[in-house]
Amino acid sequence: MMTVKEDLGMSKYESIIGLETHIQLNTHSKIFCGCKADSWKEPPNTNICPVCTGLPGVLPTLNEAVVEKAVLLALAMHVDAIQAESYFARKNYFYPDLPKGYQISQYDEPLALGGTMDLSMPDGELVRVRIDKLHVEEDAGKTVHQGNRRLIDFNRCGVPLVEMVTGPDLRSADEAAQYLIRLRQLLRWLGISEADMERGQLRCDANVSIRLKGTEELNPKTEIKNVNSIENVRSAIEAEISRQIREVESGNEIEAWTLNWDEDSSTLSKMRSKETEADYRYFREPDLLPIRISKAWLDEMKSNLPELPLERRSRFIKEYSLPLYDAEILTEERSLADYFEETVSVYTGEPKSVSNWLMNDVLRMIRDLGIFASELKMRPHHLAKIIQLVDSRSITNSTGKALLDKVQESGRNPDEIVEEEGLAQVSDEDTLKLLVKGVIDANPEQVEVYRGGKVTIIGWFVGQVMRESKGKADAQRTRAILEEFLKE
Ligand SMILES: [Zn+2]
Repeated sequence: MMTVKEDLGMSKYESIIGLETHIQLNTHSKIFCGCKADSWKEPPNTNICPVCTGLPGVLPTLNEAVVEKAVLLALAMHVDAIQAESYFARKNYFYPDLPKGYQISQYDEPLALGGTMDLSMPDGELVRVRIDKLHVEEDAGKTVHQGNRRLIDFNRCGVPLVEMVTGPDLRSADEAAQYLIRLRQLLRWLGISEADMERGQLRCDANVSIRLKGTEELNPKTEIKNVNSIENVRSAIEAEISRQIREVESGNEIEAWTLNWDEDSSTLSKMRSKETEADYRYFREPDLLPIRISKAWLDEMKSNLPELPLERRSRFIKEYSLPLYDAEILTEERSLADYFEETVSVYTGEPKSVSNWLMNDVLRMIRDLGIFASELKMRPHHLAKIIQLVDSRSITNSTGKALLDKVQESGRNPDEIVEEEGLAQVSDEDTLKLLVKGVIDANPEQVEVYRGGKVTIIGWFVGQVMRESKGKADAQRTRAILEEFLKE
């Protein structure tokens, strides 16, 4: 059967995708003034001052925290160079939410040049994406459309951004989505951005072109703007690749348009013909000194760089003999990875045991509560203790699971709770025999069924004894005693 893709002649073509991302840094104040940077859900025009609204006669002052966070990201991108001197430039354009009439950005001398990010695709393949450049800049305000009126909110003016541009290295919508997933993970891991696309903290424009497989030329590309979730980036790129193939197959040429993605109808529409950089009349920002980075400061930043997610994932596989699947989940978020390692070091048993408890039960708890592992009341030494209690058969597996919630609610030590609530596993032979005898006496019909040959019913008997003991009976011994009693 022909697939739709083959119908379109899609297999003849390959797609060339580059992404331009804007990352909102989570500094306390804005990039050039002391106003609060985060205005999420705050009334319009409440976090503003003469500097970020561009009143005459004011001067911008660079926020050092912005440079620190951007440099941390550049280091994580393995950039070729963090420039000892980089410059701000004015990007001139007129728009109502840009009160100065220009945006302070960087242009010919950006903060960092050249870098790479490795994407680990779900099929195990590693895709290397080049980073062309990385620079810092200020954000513009927001225009809100309300019926026929256009309302301006300047709160976002001067919020610090990093702009990062990839090379044309992505070959499918899936790879583009994976780039954003890995970038989001990295930004949160480094603690430099909340990277929530729905809140505009991570924004993405995609450049898309196609060519016949086996050829090397780069054809005119289109740019897709205003996509605000990873799923929408995937859909928009897929739609654009199909459109370009249809156009080329019908003998038309691709024009360098800027396209707008409409989320509600899942369609692309033409916004305008693309601007060229000359339209922005860039020139050096005269009100700011260059960003100067000393070797000593850069060395200090390098020593602050944490082990990155992919490196940590490899180490987990090697050092703790974990399967890739476990290592991937445990390194999705940094505080979970920390939690795992701390638990393992206190527990001293098999790391895979800790991984199982974390992935099956603790992760569910974290998701239900909507918190990070670091915010759990149940600390790693608590979890290690619970697993040890189960290992030593002091408590049953089901008591262990119930203990997780009890410790999380109270923050108390597991062995204290076991002691106080009498949760210790019942392994004492006489007690178990008494329980088994009670169950057998109360269920003569089931005993007949067992003796009639349906021995699998023993599981039901074990369940009855567990219920009588409130989950505390040693299941293995119970089963052995049952077999002995039922034989008669
Ligand atoms: Zn301000």
